[in-house]
Amino acid sequence: MKPSLTDALCTRCGLCCDGSLFADVELANNDEASALEVMGLEIEDADGEDAGLLLQPCGALKGTRCSIYPHRPDCCRTFECRLLQEVKRGTVSVEIAQGKIAEALRQIERVNELIARLGAGHERLPLKERCAEALALSEEVVANPAMNRKRAELRAAMTSVERLLRETFLEQGRGRS
Ligand code: SF4
Ligand code: SF4
Repeated sequence: MKPSLTDALCTRCGLCCDGSLFADVELANNDEASALEVMGLEIEDADGEDAGLLLQPCGALKGTRCSIYPHRPDCCRTFECRLLQEVKRGTVSVEIAQGKIAEALRQIERVNELIARLGAGHERLPLKERCAEALALSEEVVANPAMNRKRAELRAAMTSVERLLRETFLEQGRGRS
């Protein structure tokens, strides 16, 4: 039996849940928000008519798998990134897509290493915020050539990751904006 695309791609990826692609996702209604809160997930309160936001990195993500898959909110059920859509349409093969996911994970790992070298990255924050925090914290340290080099490396690595994520997973993706 052929593995589903979820098995072949999403369970090796998790980028739409771990804060790499999104900082939060919009919930459909207050019932959904309450149910997720009961499951221990971090929800940002409703603002006006909105039902609230599920903050990312999502606490339900275990490794690269959703631990509440049958109970995940609507925004997660309907989301399909660009890459997944392209594989469904047959314009990109599963093997190529797996390679693109592996490359994105490799580049994110590199960004995380550079963040750690600047002495930051201990908090659970979306990737972009972790990077901004590392750059801001390191600004407080007396500037020296080695520190400046690390900061420049992080900026370059983050620019590359952001381009890769946008071009591979986001543009023309369906759902979460
Ligand atoms: S980013 Fe795409 S391939 Fe990765 S888990 Fe999300 S939907 Fe699946
Ligand atoms: S509930 Fe599951 S599918 Fe939705 S963001 Fe969290 S880990 Fe991902």
